[in-house]
Amino acid sequence: MTRIEREKRTVSAMIALYCRAHHSAGAALCENCERLCDYALARLDRCPFGAGKPTCASCSVHCYKPDMRARIKTVMRYSGPRMSYRHPLLALMHWLDSLRREHPSKSV
Ligand SMILES: [Zn+2]
Repeated sequence: MTRIEREKRTVSAMIALYCRAHHSAGAALCENCERLCDYALARLDRCPFGAGKPTCASCSVHCYKPDMRARIKTVMRYSGPRMSYRHPLLALMHWLDSLRREHPSKSV
């Protein structure tokens, strides 16, 4: 799994956790969270750092629009602490990724 794929799975899992707790009881995301998720995945596809990207929380480029940024922050505040027992492997990998803050240009 590439760095970006892993980040996509982490963000999707976080949005799903949040949506299930706050909006939708079913397996599918509600309409708003679906849009937020699509947006987050599209941002990752366009991430200028690619495989060398820091985790979004520690990234120097804030590529989200302000309203989307506010929404994803709310999701992460709720889901972040819960990831470690709902998705322990993803949470662990994400934590490891967060330790590397250097950008690709500086790391070699
Ligand atoms: Zn929702």
